[in-house]
Amino acid sequence: MTGSFDAVIIGAGHNGLIAAAYLAKAGLKVCVLERRHVIGGCSVTETLWGSYKVSTAAYVCGLLHPKVVKDLQLHQHGFEILRRDPSSFTPLPDGSYLLLGSDEKFNAEQIAKFSKRDAEAFLRYEEAMDKVASFIEPLLVSVPPKFPNWSLSDLPTYLKILSSFLRLPEPERELLSQLFTASAWNVLNEWFESEPLKVTLATDGVIGTALPPTAPTTALVLFHHVMGSVTGKRGVWGYVRGGMGMLCEAIANAARKHGATILTNAEVKQILTRNDTVTGVMLNDGTEIKSRIVLSSADPKRTFLQLLPQGVLPDEFVRKIQRIEMTAASFKVNIVAESLPKFRNAGQGTRNEELFLRGTIHLCPSLDFLEKAYADFVCGEPSEKPMVEMTIPTVLDKTLAPEGKHIISLFVQYAPYEPVGGWERWKDEFVKRILAVVDEFAPNFSSSIVHLQALSPKDFETEFALTGGNIFHGDITPDQMFVFRPVIGWAQYRTPLRGLYLCGAGAHPGGGVIGAAGHNAAMVVLKERKRLRL
Ligand SMILES: Cc1cc2nc3c(=O)[nH]c(=O)nc-3n(C[C@H](O)[C@H](O)[C@H](O)COP(=O)(O)OP(=O)(O)OC[C@H]3O[C@@H](n4cnc5c(N)ncnc54)[C@H](O)[C@@H]3O)c2cc1C
Repeated sequence: MTGSFDAVIIGAGHNGLIAAAYLAKAGLKVCVLERRHVIGGCSVTETLWGSYKVSTAAYVCGLLHPKVVKDLQLHQHGFEILRRDPSSFTPLPDGSYLLLGSDEKFNAEQIAKFSKRDAEAFLRYEEAMDKVASFIEPLLVSVPPKFPNWSLSDLPTYLKILSSFLRLPEPERELLSQLFTASAWNVLNEWFESEPLKVTLATDGVIGTALPPTAPTTALVLFHHVMGSVTGKRGVWGYVRGGMGMLCEAIANAARKHGATILTNAEVKQILTRNDTVTGVMLNDGTEIKSRIVLSSADPKRTFLQLLPQGVLPDEFVRKIQRIEMTAASFKVNIVAESLPKFRNAGQGTRNEELFLRGTIHLCPSLDFLEKAYADFVCGEPSEKPMVEMTIPTVLDKTLAPEGKHIISLFVQYAPYEPVGGWERWKDEFVKRILAVVDEFAPNFSSSIVHLQALSPKDFETEFALTGGNIFHGDITPDQMFVFRPVIGWAQYRTPLRGLYLCGAGAHPGGGVIGAAGHNAAMVVLKERKRLRL
């Protein structure tokens, strides 16, 4: 196919599709090009093993920005969120457990089993996090101001940020500054004393991150994961009915309704330029597609270091892109099981049993456990006893598998990009280690497995085009967020080439299924529409 479009978008992940939907809605002739056979990027449902529908990468939805859902009328296009309540279950080696959900009284009773003081503090903690999140949330769907160089046009944004920061009560201002600098463990220590509660919350501080929860800056990762409120309650994540790919199908439906073309099996080999200006793209098969603008939702290293010929970008910009940290940490196991796991003391044999299995099951009982898991990783090996987050979407979503069978997702840490001896040596062994951890808490779980898919960071790179196997298109650290994302001086979705924009998780506000990067990039393009002659 050859053709000519106002805008070509590289990648049909949720951000690329969101950018496409906004631009098509505004009347632009848009084409989305996806290298895989299926749309969705990391937010995908794949039919593995016959009719089983598996969210092969991302598995829970909590951060998706409500503005995007509303603007694109996603509920009318097939998007449905299934709220998980209780949302979190932490079984402990002595048979006790912590179950948390959206009900304050229930949470207080659960936490009081370990500490009465923490039961009270938890309510205050959630309120404080909510206030800080309310300050940050509008910033997610706005374009960061220019930094360190700035112009008068940035002044209103700086003033808006400053005035809403000053409106935060003093304790929340203090909390905010801690969240941007401290370790998750340090922040949690200030609020709580009981380890089961702290370690349950701390796992959010290390997801996708090659650090232990005691490392400075992991509080930011923790906060990044409690911001969303797509389920109606902050911090309570949901399943997308039909799997994560149904979110992208809904966005694609919205984009198509406004005339967008979406092509799969269409890998962009090169972004074409003339005189520092984008002219279109060339696909792997040599097809050229003309376009005044190109938005890339591929990660920044792939976009700038692989899809552009050498010499078209300023050297200093290239050096900054090369320095972006994109560290691997995670591993994913997707399973079909013929029965539900049986956790000791978890309402077995009662009607309550299912309640324990609705949310994320944290198989990670102590800080010591996490630190040891991390220590192996530092030595270049996958953890001997990995941290496992188990989810069982079929408990709430009966559309994914035949009656009685279950889809089970294990999101695991810590997994190096290239372990000593390579993944050929380690993959089967690591899966054994992961299942051994699950079996410890839910005896005989492994014997219920019918199908299993294991994805290492290398597989993330091959399958989902995630450079370095990093699930966020770039580490979530303060030096790589907001005005520093993707690199300092270039946080406004524009690039040194006229007509080229970044619209994926490598841009503000970063990784996770948020949709804000796609939204913001589209807004920048639409603002510059006249200048771009669109
Ligand atoms: C295993 C795993 C589990 C995760 N779990 C969660 C979770 O539960 N919840 C959550 O919120 N986040 C989760 N994340 C993170 C989140 O999914 C990602 O940060 C987010 O989806 C990125 O979205 P995106 O649209 O910016 O990019 P992507 O989803 O990465 O999409 C980019 C698209 O571009 C395509 N592409 C790349 N290069 C080219 C090219 N040259 N030509 C054409 N197409 C190209 C890719 O194939 C891909 O489809 C997870 C990620 C992984 C990998």
